[in-house]
Amino acid sequence: MLKLDFHPSGRHFLQIPGPSPVPDRILRAMSLPTIDHRGPEFGALGLELLAKIQKIFKTKHPVIIYPASGTGAWEAALANTMSPGDRVLMFETGHFATLWQKMAVRLGLEPEFIGLPGYEGWRHGVQADMIEARLKEDSGHDIKAVCVVHNETSTGVTSNIAAVRRAIDAAGHPALLIVDTISGLASADFRHDEWGVDVTVSGSQKGLMLPPGISFNALSPKAIEVSKAAKLPKSFWAWDEILEANQNGYWPYTPSTNLLYGLNEALDMLLDEGLENVLARHQRWAAGVRTAVEAWGLEIQCQEPEVYSPVLTGVVVPEEIDADEVRKIIYERFDLSLGTGLGKAKGKMFRIGHLGDCNDLTLIATLGGCEAGMKLAGISLKGSGVAAALDYFAANPLNRAV
Ligand SMILES: *Cc1c(COP(=O)(O)O)cnc(C)c1O
Repeated sequence: MLKLDFHPSGRHFLQIPGPSPVPDRILRAMSLPTIDHRGPEFGALGLELLAKIQKIFKTKHPVIIYPASGTGAWEAALANTMSPGDRVLMFETGHFATLWQKMAVRLGLEPEFIGLPGYEGWRHGVQADMIEARLKEDSGHDIKAVCVVHNETSTGVTSNIAAVRRAIDAAGHPALLIVDTISGLASADFRHDEWGVDVTVSGSQKGLMLPPGISFNALSPKAIEVSKAAKLPKSFWAWDEILEANQNGYWPYTPSTNLLYGLNEALDMLLDEGLENVLARHQRWAAGVRTAVEAWGLEIQCQEPEVYSPVLTGVVVPEEIDADEVRKIIYERFDLSLGTGLGKAKGKMFRIGHLGDCNDLTLIATLGGCEAGMKLAGISLKGSGVAAALDYFAANPLNRAV
């Protein structure tokens, strides 16, 4: 039997960068009875949700909701817009960008994967000038899409999407701009319409504070037009039937009814607080956590301050230490889950998530677990990150816009 009934006393600290801690209010909303997904109440819920979710993506255009994890929405974005053998330009920011590139190969596309070299390359954001240079060479317009990850969850780098848009425009290139903000949405500033994104991919279990299980494609009119001639096989993911059913608040198949109750509650929470306040809250938490890392005398994975992630922070451990050993100690001794180093960053760093249902003191406790665990692992720290972060939070109250 699985030992899922094992619960230490108190609350587990789920400080991985997704799934994030789910507020009780959302869990309660999800516990309501499942209703008929073809009945009148469902249609009303569907219409309300589809209108509210547009505000989170900052778009006036349709947003598709899938009963799938983020990976499904990645596939949907490509399957709806591309044809077999199409060339796509993808940028290697980290592990998630790499997984998406592998998916493009499996789908029968020809991804061209550019980026800065090696592990050090994973400490920077998307280099828009490299994209511009490559598109300028492509005078025959063979490249059909530029695919970038907004918030690279494996490294804690939030790339400048407006700069990528400008690069595509400066090259005078018609490629679609497809962006993964699975872990950025509702925690990091994201503007689908203003930044001219054609398809935005997102998921439920990160900034939206929901359990895993639903994901999104936000569309542009150009993406919808392109999808009509795109030839990759698609059925479950096909936008056309979903858009048709969504007109009345329904789906062509059974949607994740209870997760949608949760989504409705999450959207109310985010919109009541005000999206700008939510984003400022995450920036402040990230700054507090970085203050702690600096006080410890350790390096942050991201090396460009302009693209520090408000969602998570990667902490690089000294070379002789295995970061996963540190995580293991912290988990076993303090009931705190941290993100592992992925791909090229394996063993070199761990990730602290500061998203979802957090507050200053849950983050102080998280930093406390990190600090104690790192000492137990034999890392000599320069000073107390906990004390530094406490001072930072005390000295910088959150200024609310409304
Ligand atoms: C979590 C994540 C994914 C994968 O989403 P799943 O829900 O695990 O399928 C993809 N990209 C990024 C940037 C992510 O953070």
